[in-house]
Order: sequence, then structure tokens, then C-alpha cells
Amino acid sequence: MLCSSTHNNALLIDTQSLEVEREAEILADGILPFLLSNQIGAAYETLQSAKDRYDNWIEVTLHGVDGRRIFPLGDVQVASGAAIITETVQIAFQGQDLGELSVVVDLGPGIERFRTEQLRMVYVAAVIVALILFGVAYVVDRLFTRRLIQISRAADEMAVGNFDVSLPDGRDEVGMMARSFSAMRAQIQYQTKSLQEARMRAENALEARSRFIATMSHEIRTPLNGIIPVAELLTASDLDPAQRQKVETIVQSGKALSSIVDDILDVSMLETGKLTLRREVFSPSKLCDEACAIARPSAERKGLTLTVEHMGPTDLTCIGDPDRLRQVLINILGNAVKFTQEGSVTVKTSVETRGANRAKLRFEVTDTGIGISEKALDRIFYRFEQEDQGIARRFGGSGLGLSIVKSLLDAMGGTVSVQTAQGVGSTFTVELELDIATAASVEARPPQTDTQPTGRQRSALVVDDSEINLTVASAMLQSLGFDVDTADNGLSALVKAQQKKFDVIFMDMHMPEMDGLEATRRIRNEDGPNAETRIIALTASVQQDDIDKCKAAGMNAFMPKPLRLDRLKDVLMG
Ligand code: ADP
Repeated sequence: MLCSSTHNNALLIDTQSLEVEREAEILADGILPFLLSNQIGAAYETLQSAKDRYDNWIEVTLHGVDGRRIFPLGDVQVASGAAIITETVQIAFQGQDLGELSVVVDLGPGIERFRTEQLRMVYVAAVIVALILFGVAYVVDRLFTRRLIQISRAADEMAVGNFDVSLPDGRDEVGMMARSFSAMRAQIQYQTKSLQEARMRAENALEARSRFIATMSHEIRTPLNGIIPVAELLTASDLDPAQRQKVETIVQSGKALSSIVDDILDVSMLETGKLTLRREVFSPSKLCDEACAIARPSAERKGLTLTVEHMGPTDLTCIGDPDRLRQVLINILGNAVKFTQEGSVTVKTSVETRGANRAKLRFEVTDTGIGISEKALDRIFYRFEQEDQGIARRFGGSGLGLSIVKSLLDAMGGTVSVQTAQGVGSTFTVELELDIATAASVEARPPQTDTQPTGRQRSALVVDDSEINLTVASAMLQSLGFDVDTADNGLSALVKAQQKKFDVIFMDMHMPEMDGLEATRRIRNEDGPNAETRIIALTASVQQDDIDKCKAAGMNAFMPKPLRLDRLKDVLMG
């Protein structure tokens, strides 16, 4: 930079020197006639006016051929400095010397002026360039950038479902792009609308199907309630072996039909997302014992041994949905018993990991049954999937059990897996992480009134508007040793509950005059003899909504119809 500025200075001085030399020569030519004609005065004037004309000319001197100074007459000004130059021109005419003209010039102001001028030009050029750039940017902005941003905003809005943002027009490339985008957007809008409509139709269909299933299950349960319990009661009467076998067939078929209805209803509830999991304190090992107790009679009927091994602490209590976990275990155990012809079913429980608040539980159900082929393994957890038609025909079943198990475990954050070998047996493993119950949560459990045998005859009130249901429930409770009273609506139940203390009340939900929910609320709130009595909901509807309503009204448990002796015993134990 420094080098370049020094070089510039030298160049400037050279240029200016040449200029001064040319002017000195012109001046010499100007005074030549005066010297020839000896008009010294005129030469003086010319030299003086030349000196005055250029303000950077410090001195002009003219010497004669004899070396005598002719101009100026007075003192000669002396100057020195880097920018001071002296140009000397010989004045001659036709080979005869007439004198010597010297001009001393200070090039400083000229250089300075030149520099200032140069700087000004740079500024002007910079301003012009800036203006041009600004102009170009403005044009690009107007022509392209703003319109591209408009398209990009339209794309963003489209992503959140807004298809109405305006697009730029024009015949250039951006305009073409906007038109293509608009066509694509219209297509996407059309497809999105079709998809939304299809989804709505599917949801409505699912909802309608779920309502239909709920109604049908209610309608099927009600007559089943007249079949299973009555047939169960018949088995307790005096029958010859052939008759007993026939009646038992009725009971088994009724139970099978009832459990298919339960499964279909569960699937429908899981599909429509209506399953809500409860948070209750329960003992996993006890729950497993209960599930085994339910499966044991059918295992024993087949000559199988069913054993339970608790590998972990049995005093651990957790918080979760015990009914749904029990359903999972019963399903797996039911299959183990169903698909095992001889040998055993073993259930192992263990606590995999235990932290301060959470415990990972593991339940293993191992059978010595038929096993499952490799190719069927992927399918068995899907709805209506069974290993093959032969097995399905031989063992029965709807192919829903394991899909319900998987969906329930998914909802609870657990897993189910299987290890199996054909002809050797299978092990189904359930793993589930649950909150550990604290002392406070254990205390929060609702107190339960004892309905266990006490030595005296226990009393029950059965409330139902169906004659058949009243007959069936009364007969079953009488077979268990209860003294039974009946009422055919909530209002007369209320009157009976005010007059006598019962050990347990079975209450239908939907009845004329006063429904079961209102009757329960009144029994709980009126300070009568049954304010603390255990009230068990008795209904053909098993929707979670209804279960919740029953609990909110003050009922202690829920018994789905059709009534079954084993379930009745269970609920009375609870
Ligand atoms: P279902 O038992 O009603 O047919 P599941 O969904 O419970 O339906 O079971 C699906 C299929 O998985 C069964 O049909 C059977 O082929 C197979 N399976 C389930 N558990 C076992 C088991 N313990 N041993 C052998 N096969 C089994």
C-alpha cells in the first residue's frame, strides 16, 4: 500500500514536471520575439503575468547568454522541498542562444488538489455503485424474493391445513412455479378432504359398530342370564349321569358364548379407545393366585397339575388395574390349559427390578402342551388369528384372546412374548412395570363390608325389573345359603332397605320408577341400616362408563350378567 502510494507520488511529480516543462517552453516561445526585438519591458510583463497566473509558480528567472539575470530585477525567492521542481529552458533562435528561462514550481498544491479530486471521484464512483446495487437488489426483491417468500409461506400454511393463502402471479419463472404450486395444492386439498371424509365415515362406522356390539351383547347376555345360572342350579339337583352331562354341556356352551360376547365387547372397546385403566392398590401375587384358582377346576378336569411359584416377595403391593391384569393372566392360563392334553401348567411370578417407586413384574406361564409352529408365531397376537383351522376346530376359540392380551398390555405399558416348541410346550411371559403402593395408598383403599360367612344365615336383597333375573339370582344366592328378598324397582328397594339390614344388595342399573344408581345414592345418603352395606351392581352392560357410574353412585363391585355361580362366589368373597 505504502509502496503503491510512493509510486503514485513519483508518477504524479513526473506528470506535473512535464506539464511545467511544456508551460515553460510556451513561456520561452512567448518572450522570444521580445528578446529578439530587445523589448525587455514586454518580456518582463509576460514573465510577471505568467508568474502571477500560476499560484504554485514560486519564481521565474531569465538569464542572458552572459549569465546575467534579466528577470526579476529584485531578489530571487528560494524554496526547497520534495515537491519543489525547477524546469530550465534554453531560449535560442536560429542556433543563436538568447538566454535561459528557469521556472521554480511547488507541485505540492497541485498534487494535493489532484488527490482530493481523485478521492472525490472514488466517493462518487462508490455512491454510483451503491445506487446501482440498491437498484438491482430492489428489482430482484420485487421480481423474485418477495414472491418466492409468498410461495414458501403458502407451503407452510398448507402444512397446517390452510389452503387459502394467495400466490404470486406473473409470466416469468416465479409465476410458472406459483402456478405449478397452486395446482399441486389444489390436488393435496382435494385428497386431504377426501381422506378426512373417509376417516370420519370410518370413525362413525366404528362408533356405530361399537354401539351395535354393546346393544347386541346386552341383548345376548340377558337371555344367557336365564340359561347359565338355571343350568348351573340344575347341576346341583338330583340328576342321572346322562342328564347331568347334558346340563353340564348347556353350562359349558353358555359360558363359552358368554366369554365370546365379553371378548368381542373388549375388542370393540379397545378399538374405539374407550378402555380406561383404573388405578387401584393390589397384590400381584394374590392376583396371580386368584387367576390360577379360576383356571384350576378346568385344569383338574383334564388331569393337569397347575402350580404357582412366587419367586419374588409376596407382600409387594402395586397400583394398577387388577381386573385387566387378571384378565390377561386368565386368558393366557386358559389357553395353556386348553392346548395341553397331559402334563402341567406352571405359573412363576417374580420381581425383575425394584426401585424406590416402581417395580418391574414378570409372570411366566409354562405348559407342556402342543406348542406353536414358527410360522404361526407372528400371527397369534392378531385378532381372529389361530394357528390353523385344524387346531381351531379341535380346541375351539375365537382367536381374540391373545389380541386382547396384547392390547391390554400395550395400554398398561407392558409386553407379552412367547417361547415355544411344537410337541413340547410353550412359555408365555408377561412383563409389566407398575408403581409401588405406599402405606398412604394402602390406607386409601375403600373399606369393604364383610359378606363372608359369620355363622348366622346371611341376607341379600336382589333388585331387578326382570322376573327371570330375580328368579335366577335368588335361586343362586339361596344355593349359597342366603336368605333372599327381592324388589322390582329402585323405589321399592329403598323402602325394603329402610326396614331391614341386609348383608349384601344386588342392584340392577336400569329400572322403571327409580334406577339402581339413584337407589344406591339414596341408600348411602339416608342414614338407614344399609348405609354401609355392600352394594353390587348387576347389569348386562359392561361398558367402562357404566362401571364408573356405578362406582360414583357408591356401589362396591360390579357383576356382569349372565350371572355365574363362580363369579358370584368370587364377588361375595371380595
Ligand atoms: P383362541 O385361543 O380363542 O383361539 P387366542 O388369541 O387366545 O385365541 O390364541 C390364538 C392362537 O394361538 C390359538 O388359536 C392357538 O393356535 C395359539 N395358542 C395360544 N396359546 C397357546 C398355547 N399355550 N399353546 C399352544 N398354542 C397356543
